[in-house]
Formats: sequence, C-alpha cells, structure tokens
Amino acid sequence: MQLDFLGNLKRTNTCGDLRVSDVGKRAIVMGWVHRRRDLGGVIFIHLRDRYGVTQLVFFEGSPAHDRAEELRTEYVIAAEGVVSVRTPETINPNLPTGEVEILVETVWILNESRTPPFPMEDSVDVSEDARLKYRYVDLRRPRMQRNIILRSQITFAVREFLTSQQFLEIETPFMTRSTPEGARDYLVPSRVQPGNFYALPQSPQIFKQLLMVSGYDRYFQIVRCFRDEDLRADRQPEFTQIDLEMSFPQEEQVFEVIEPLMQRVCQVAGFEVPLPFPRMTYAQAMQLYGIDKPDRRIPPMTSVADLLPALVAHGLPLVAIHIPNVGALTRSERDILKEVGKGRGLRVFDDLKRLDRDSPGVVEQIRARTGATENDLLLVAGWADDPVGHRPEETMLKAAGELRLFAAQKYNDRHKLLDPKRFEFLWVTDFPMFEWDAEDQRWMAAHHPFTSVHDEDLDKLTSDPARCRSKAYDLVLNGTELGSGSIRIHRRDIQTKVFAALGFSDEEARRRFGFLLDALEYGAPPHGGIALGIDRIVMLLAGETSIRDVIPFPKTARGTDLMCDAPSAVPDRQLRELGIQLRVQS
Ligand code: ASP
Repeated sequence: MQLDFLGNLKRTNTCGDLRVSDVGKRAIVMGWVHRRRDLGGVIFIHLRDRYGVTQLVFFEGSPAHDRAEELRTEYVIAAEGVVSVRTPETINPNLPTGEVEILVETVWILNESRTPPFPMEDSVDVSEDARLKYRYVDLRRPRMQRNIILRSQITFAVREFLTSQQFLEIETPFMTRSTPEGARDYLVPSRVQPGNFYALPQSPQIFKQLLMVSGYDRYFQIVRCFRDEDLRADRQPEFTQIDLEMSFPQEEQVFEVIEPLMQRVCQVAGFEVPLPFPRMTYAQAMQLYGIDKPDRRIPPMTSVADLLPALVAHGLPLVAIHIPNVGALTRSERDILKEVGKGRGLRVFDDLKRLDRDSPGVVEQIRARTGATENDLLLVAGWADDPVGHRPEETMLKAAGELRLFAAQKYNDRHKLLDPKRFEFLWVTDFPMFEWDAEDQRWMAAHHPFTSVHDEDLDKLTSDPARCRSKAYDLVLNGTELGSGSIRIHRRDIQTKVFAALGFSDEEARRRFGFLLDALEYGAPPHGGIALGIDRIVMLLAGETSIRDVIPFPKTARGTDLMCDAPSAVPDRQLRELGIQLRVQS
C-alpha cells in the first residue's frame, strides 16, 4: 500500500472536541480507524484518539472515497474536511461529538496496521496474557486509557498539593545499598568493581531520613521501589510510592498533610471524602476487626465473653460476628462458615436457638449489643484449642477476622456493603514494634528498623518485645493498606538499642548501616513520614481490582514482562565482563 508522509500537515482538532459550534469550519484530525462502515455510496469511519471519536464521511466519486476503501481497523490516518451537522436520525447521543461529522475531502494514510490481536471494545473479554503481550494495543482500549489518564491526573495533583505545602521533590538513587523493608533485594552487578553489587532500593527510606539530617525539612518523591518477593496476586516487583518525610512532626502532623492530600486525590477521581479520617490503635483494630487493615464498610466484631463465660477458652476472646442483611442461611451454608472457622482454629457457634436454650436471653443481649436483626448473619466464635503464638489473643482475633471477611465477601451480593464507590479511610496507629519470625526464630521489625519505639515502651525493647509498641501507622482504605509510615529514631543511642533488639551485632549494624549511624551523630532532627502506594490508590479510585490494570507495563504474577520477555538470559560475554559465572544454566 502507498503510504503518505505527514509532511507539514498539522492537526487542527482532536477526535474529541468538535461540536455543533464548529459546523462549517475546516478541520484536520488524525488518529486510528476505530470502525469502518461501507454503505456502498458512502463510507463512514469512526476515527479515534485519546480524546474521543469523530465520525468521518467519504462520498462516492471523491478521491478520498477511493482511498477510504483501503482503510482497515487501526490504520493511522489524517483527514481534512468540513465539519457538518448530522441529520437528526444519525445523531449519536452516546458520543460528545455525536452531533457532527467531517465531510472528508482529503485523507492521508500514515500507517497500516495488522489485524489487532483483540478488538478495542472494553466489552470484549481478552485473556490477560494476550493483553500483556500486546500491551501497546491493550493500552489503546478505553478502560485502560481512562485508568492511565486518571493516574497521570492523580500524580499531578499530588505534586501540586505537596509542593503547595512546602514539600521539595528530591530524587534519591536507584543504584544503592540494601534498604531493609522486609523483602529480598534486586541486585545489579558492578562491571568496574567485579564481585560487587548495587541493590535497587526497596524504598528511599534511609535517603529520605538523611535528607532530614541535611535540613530539607519536607521531602517527597513519586518513586519506584523494588522488592524481590514471592509474588502474590496483587504485587509487582517494581511499584510506585508517594514517599514523603518531614522534620519535627508528631504523627498527627503527618496525618494533617496526608488527609487533605487524599481528599484532593479522591476529588480528582470524582469522589468527595470527609475529613478527618478516623483513627484507631492496632490493638483496637485487632479487637474489633481481627485485622490491621479493617474494612469499615462491614460492622466490627463484638466481644461477648462476659455474656457467655462458659464458652471462653483459656481466657481468649469470644466474639460475635455480625454481617447485615444476609437473610436465612441453609444448613450447608452455615456448615461452610463453620468449616472455614474450624480451619483457622476457631469454634463457631452458629445455632442461636441452642445458645439461647443453654443461656436463656443471651441472643437478645447479643443482638442489643451488636445491633443485629433477625435478617442479619450472627455468629459467635471462640478459640478451639490451646493458645498459639506469642500474642495468642491476637492469633484468635485474626482467625475470627478472617471468618468475618470471608462471610462478608461471600454474601456481598445480598448486603452489597462492599460498594467500591464508598470510601472508608482509617488510620491505624501504635503498631507492635516487633513480629516473630517463626522460620528464623527471632523478632523482626514489624515496620522497618528505623521506626521509633513508643516512649512508654522503651524499657520493653528487650524485656518484653511482644508487647513493645512503635510509633508506626498505616493508612487503610476499604480493607486495603495504602501505606505505612512512622516517626523515626533520630538518636544514635536508641537506634543502636533497636538494632541490638533485632539481633544485629554491633559489627553487622556498622557494616550495613554505618553511614546512617554516623549521620545520626551529626545533628539529626526528630523526623517521620510515610509512603503511600500509588498503584493501589489509583486502582481503588478507578474501580479496578488489580494493580496491573493501572500500571502501563506491568509484570505477570511470575514477574515476567510478556511483551519484552524479561527477565532473559544474557550472552556469556556480558557475564564474563561482570565477573559472573552461573551455577545453574537455564
Ligand atoms: N519506607 C516505608 C515503606 O516503604 C515507608 C515509610 O516508613 O515511610 O513502607
């Protein structure tokens, strides 16, 4: 096919902006052939670009019509003609440009396209593998365009807001040393220093703290972070955070920045959220929801230990789980819930009549306390066996929380509480300082090792690590953790103690974080901050359920980029230059 050059041709309008007020004007539009209808005497083309769709009309007998006969879906063309009003019966009320069309006099075919691997319509279901392999085509589809454009609008709003609050956008290195956030590092071998490796940052944590030592006072960055984890459904090896740090804050001051920031971001997506966001300690979240990222669209659990003392085992909690508007459940439906509870170590009491028989009046008391009606699902759950773990109460509550979420999700089509357009933000504060790592048999930092211990718990660092609280907090939205932050340790003596509590020898702490320990000795101010996962934020605001749908070029659950086929083997010569010999040949 004969292709045309773009030459000096300039587009006058996008495919989204012509209206009745433009009728009579000459216009040049450029874009992709979305649809072509050949009615013999006249050819209609829907021309598409990221702004919209405009109808082009080619009448028989014109040179443009002959050219239009050659056009196929996804060809790239330019068209010039006069904007004309459509006849009433051809007006398309679904298109913003639907009242007009361009009567084309000249068309330029700028490029052809092979038949696309899948249609552009959102309504056509396409396998994710195909979408990822032909991502450049997938990204043309309206849903993806909406998501990627929303993402850009959100990042712009973030920059605008934080800059207006005196935050400075400062870059930190990608080729660096390990920054511990609980995952493995991606390593980059150094060619000029064979045998040595950079690590890609799991977060800019240490650098942003150093910027506070340097007096920059308010820093932010919309930054890629790299974590080599066994990928779960909703993780990516590289992901983006809104990372920020402030000097001299209490945690409330961090919240005071983030709340209007999130409000603004929601507005960009068309949602209003009220401020301030509620706050809840980790201990409360566990007690009420059995999870550190409560979904507040569903009612909390309620302690009923005092009402049913005979069912309390080992002093562990006994809770009522209440899910509204589930209606009557069949025997087998109730058995499923009991099995799910049992699989998590719970004893589930679902037979309210029996509870009432054994403890007359108790069900009414539980209903009064929970607000549950006859039409709601009401279960009582306790622990079945011996206490488990260093915080056994928490183990029990976690299990109950999982049962609560399972039931809520299973019956969402009845109660419809998990409405993706309802946004329930929440701060969870006072996280535990440490978590027990059963594999390594040691305490690990629950957040990261630079997190301050709660003032009152300083003496518990080594004497009672299980009960030691930190100044770490999470921002939660609808049961999803959007991000974590903390007030940091700014004193060298306390950082040393925390490293010791985490089992780092002085020598190891020096080797890994010597530069940070040194910096803390050069006038480090009190500081704190947070990092919010922008992929998840955009996902929730776009109404998507996978972050892959808001990342332009994501990887599969196995960490593969199906389009460019990464990761890939490299030539032996390249390995030799790096001084690397593989143990396993792939
Ligand atoms: N660096 C932390 C993270 O990536 C966030 C923070 O503490 O600011 O989770």
